[in-house]
Amino acid sequence: MLQRFIDLHLHSSASDGRYPPARLIEMAHARGLSAVALTDHDTTAGLAEAARRAAELNLEFIPGIELEAAHPRGTLHILGYFIDPNSPALQSLAARAIESRTTRNEAILEKLAAEGLHLAMSDLTNDLPANAEPLTTGFNEQNGSHPAPSELSNLKSDIQSSMSQSPDRHIAKSPDRQIAKSIGRPHIAHALVRTHQVKDFRTAFTDYLADGAKCFVPLNLPTAETVLSAITTAHGLASLAHPVRLNCESSLELRTLAKRLREAGLRAIETIHPSHTPAQTVDYEKLAAELKLSATGGSDFHRLPPKQGHGIGFGRVKVPYELLIPLRRLHPFTCVSF
Ligand SMILES: [Zn+2]
Ligand SMILES: [Zn+2]
Repeated sequence: MLQRFIDLHLHSSASDGRYPPARLIEMAHARGLSAVALTDHDTTAGLAEAARRAAELNLEFIPGIELEAAHPRGTLHILGYFIDPNSPALQSLAARAIESRTTRNEAILEKLAAEGLHLAMSDLTNDLPANAEPLTTGFNEQNGSHPAPSELSNLKSDIQSSMSQSPDRHIAKSPDRQIAKSIGRPHIAHALVRTHQVKDFRTAFTDYLADGAKCFVPLNLPTAETVLSAITTAHGLASLAHPVRLNCESSLELRTLAKRLREAGLRAIETIHPSHTPAQTVDYEKLAAELKLSATGGSDFHRLPPKQGHGIGFGRVKVPYELLIPLRRLHPFTCVSF
């Protein structure tokens, strides 16, 4: 029997992806995927459009979200699946994220002004340019291998980390949060280049915006427990996204953290992700099995790279449909109709 594949980690233009939700669903369908989840950062704004298009194409769709939580180092992202997008708990957490990201964007603009670089909040537009593409994380040609330890790789990794691993966008103010979009550091970088104040996107990050750079401002993030509680209250299933980016110093440290998160409602670990080596994927699968957590996987697709990968889904990740079966057992129904 033909093996079926899924992708449970996709970003649309409702957050920092390039393609509108319906277009993204069409692309997933064209690639022959059997099920997909839309997991935009901090917003459920794209879910209704994606769900409608998926229903038209008879593509199994799981409503999702990706939320960030405080962590001493690295990045702690939590994916929520099967969520009720209208859940007050979830929307209130998203609203807090909006506030802190807006405050942070304003603080960054103030710091830039002190460096002689002037931008107004109105300069930050939703559309990222094509030249942002090679720097974004998630789906890329390097899937399954660590970057070479050269300075350039480290620089790229730092920029990627700043751009996507710690999403720092705010949701543009809108009378209806369901149609809100996200704006963050990539947009600030683009505005600096567009207004000819910085020569390129990379320089904007390394000189000003990257973690620890001159105009960096830390984000005020909720605890993982707060995020997990909101996802659970929204009838969702929480999965620990790309654990490699937690930068744990040992497998024991990751195991201890995962156990703590499980107590707070974590139900799965994202074992398959483009930033995981095959060996790491095996380690995470073992950890999930040991802690009786499910496994999830996806491409973290934001936009197509200049050279397209050869995977079944986006990039080279291949997530078998079988991963979805235990998740469906836990969540047989989607809680809300779009
Ligand atoms: Zn993430
Ligand atoms: Zn993501």
